[in-house]
Amino acid sequence: MIYRASQKRYELMHYKNCGSSGLKLPLISLGLWHNFGGKKINSESKKVLFKAFDSGITHFDLANNYGPPYGSAEINFGKILKNDLSKYRDELIISSKAGYDMWEGPYGEWGSKKHIIASCNQSLQRMGLDYVDIFYSHRFDPNTPLEETADALEYIYKSGKALYIGVSSYSSKKTNEMYNLLKKRNIKLFIHQPSYSLINRWIEKDLTKTLTNKGIGCIAFSPLAQGMLSEKYFKGIPKLSRANQKITSLDKKLITQKNIKMIIELNKIAKKRGQSLAQMAIAWVLNNKAVTSALIGARNVNQLQENINAIKNLNFSQTEISLINKTARDGGVNIWLASSSY
Ligand code: NDP
Repeated sequence: MIYRASQKRYELMHYKNCGSSGLKLPLISLGLWHNFGGKKINSESKKVLFKAFDSGITHFDLANNYGPPYGSAEINFGKILKNDLSKYRDELIISSKAGYDMWEGPYGEWGSKKHIIASCNQSLQRMGLDYVDIFYSHRFDPNTPLEETADALEYIYKSGKALYIGVSSYSSKKTNEMYNLLKKRNIKLFIHQPSYSLINRWIEKDLTKTLTNKGIGCIAFSPLAQGMLSEKYFKGIPKLSRANQKITSLDKKLITQKNIKMIIELNKIAKKRGQSLAQMAIAWVLNNKAVTSALIGARNVNQLQENINAIKNLNFSQTEISLINKTARDGGVNIWLASSSY
């Protein structure tokens, strides 16, 4: 059946300017890191994409190696773009990234000009696009001069392969350096993509201040701490969960009694607000003024719908904030605290 986008798609979602730029991002964006790979996209994931767009989610985030296998999320997304979403291209913000392991040999990852440009070209080819809206350096490379990575990003931007340039997981210091290098090349560093959730606070130390001062937007990835900030793990590790996958990014070791106890306490606060814990976690990330958009993942349409409804209650009282902070700080581990060591 041919997909037709809902005519009501812009009625619920809210949009916020990305830093000091004129481009607005939806408060909730969808990432395709998990659930969109494989030889053929599964039918539920396809429904997730359509539901997202029907709900005003205009921003879809990819990277060269999303899958598995690497590249397959971009291939699958490209097919959907071609078959179902092509007429909506100008309503979409599509991003990709390069920097993590993608292909064999010394040019298959990190921040050299060779890797970044070749990877961008591959991503465009896989998705069948002339340009992406945002292209990121996925991680800082300690063994490549930052000037070289900036040269690569400049080439991508000036050749029209990307409209905006971003960095991901760069420290405050390296973000500043990249901002200045790009400025010299007449390019504005548009956005930063860090991990951030109410149990992962590393960006609050100094990065958010840098982003606000420089007018750089911020899209916070894994606001649910990969599902930990939901009711999912209250009674152990379910079969259909990220912590139970063979190749997993959510370490089972984090599902400890102590952490679950903390999460149950956070859930009580959410319930009092009339929200699920997942919804409160998203609202909490958006409560940080530096944050433009919460970048979520979803296994199915139910999860997506629940998460989108987070925007129905985004306000927090000071008492709620204090209680959340105390519960999160005293109760368990701060995962990914050292997420950016550069
Ligand atoms: P989340 O923290 O939103 O985790 C998503 C996972 O949480 C889902 O797959 C699901 O897990 C679970 N979940 C989601 N909603 C619910 C719900 N309502 N109830 C219960 N469980 C729920 O974000 P991700 O970790 O998926 O990251 C989002 C995006 O951020 C990625 O797709 C990618 O685009 C980007 N990202 C970028 C990185 C970078 O280095 N720049 C690194 C990581 C992510 P389950 O499958 O167990 O059901």
